[in-house]
Amino acid sequence: MKFSPEKPALTGETLESLAARLQEQGEPAFRARQILEWVYKKRVTSWDEMTNLSKPLRTWLAGTFDFMPAELVLNKHSEDVTDKLLLELRDRSLIETVIIRAPQDGVGIDHSRKTICISTQVGCAMGCVFCASGLAGLKRDLSAGEIVAQLLHVCRSEDARTPRAHTEIASFDNIVVMGMGEPLANYDALIRALTIVNADWGLGFGARRITISTSGVVPKILKLAEEPLGFRLAISLHGATDAVREQIMPINRAYPLAKLLPAAKLFSEKHGRMITLEFILIENVNDSLEQARLLRDIALDLHAHVNLIPYNTVEGLPWKRPSLTRQDRFADILRAARISVTLRREKGHDIDAACGQLRLKTEKDRELAAP
Ligand code: SAH
Ligand code: SF4
Repeated sequence: MKFSPEKPALTGETLESLAARLQEQGEPAFRARQILEWVYKKRVTSWDEMTNLSKPLRTWLAGTFDFMPAELVLNKHSEDVTDKLLLELRDRSLIETVIIRAPQDGVGIDHSRKTICISTQVGCAMGCVFCASGLAGLKRDLSAGEIVAQLLHVCRSEDARTPRAHTEIASFDNIVVMGMGEPLANYDALIRALTIVNADWGLGFGARRITISTSGVVPKILKLAEEPLGFRLAISLHGATDAVREQIMPINRAYPLAKLLPAAKLFSEKHGRMITLEFILIENVNDSLEQARLLRDIALDLHAHVNLIPYNTVEGLPWKRPSLTRQDRFADILRAARISVTLRREKGHDIDAACGQLRLKTEKDRELAAP
């Protein structure tokens, strides 16, 4: 399930891999650092702006690497605090990247905390029954360069909005890997991309401000626990018993709670930081108070934060979000046990913020427009 582009993406190169390629060309290795500085710090958009490189080198680079493997096709501002970037890849696949602004008291929206939500696959193979991303299955994995490109596009769009006082740092506060796809099913590209995002020669973005969300691919959770960079982990639980989880998440058959919860515990102990349990509230599926009590026990045992997410309806799917009263009663059971819990009131509902929905709509429009 790989796409082989004509040229590798510059955004998928590490300092080492780029230096090795340059040395093959007879160039000194330090050129790699210069090039990456233009890309990630100065954020130029063409080879010709790299003025400390010779013209022949720039020509060779342009013939060898794809400067940016994703084009911005739509930047959708919502009425509230969420923006969506729709990006088109070289094979015309569409992916989306979301910017969520959390307003802070007393400051304008441009100074709010920004969380960026990135995708790791085109579609998803996991088949969770409530999710728009998985509806059409998996089209392909994203390359590391395509994952990093999403963040560079966000930087460019944010730079245009609020000209930086030349700080050269990324213009956002947190990254969540919660867009389209199952990140741990595209493990190597994910880790390579996040290594580039984290490196001082890359975006210089702290690993502890990056959260990877998984539906529960147990062997990869165990592998992630061994990574030198300490990324944060969120687990999409969505059911506090196998019976409930299995109804909505097929992965539970391969990795039931008896396997998933010990892996989560091990990760959390190794990492020394709280993990997050995500729990979408879906009416009459997992919103009973019995589920709330069982979720409470799991969260207490793992010493985990719980993120309750009222379900975002997906066109064509029958699931609904519970009433506000029901959501609060569920949350209260957790709060009463002094669990750290957030009940997300969906942001960006008006621009189809739930994962995969904007892409789905654009693909449908394309089909309708096709002769
Ligand atoms: N595949 C990974 C990450 C992407 S999905 C995972 O499943 O964790 C990110 C989060 O959005 C998951 O918790 C997922 O269950 C949730 N989600 C998917 N569809 C949703 C919807 N319609 N409404 C609310 N949350 C949804
Ligand atoms: Fe894939 Fe996550 Fe959607 Fe499940 S919830 S289908 S794992 S993207």
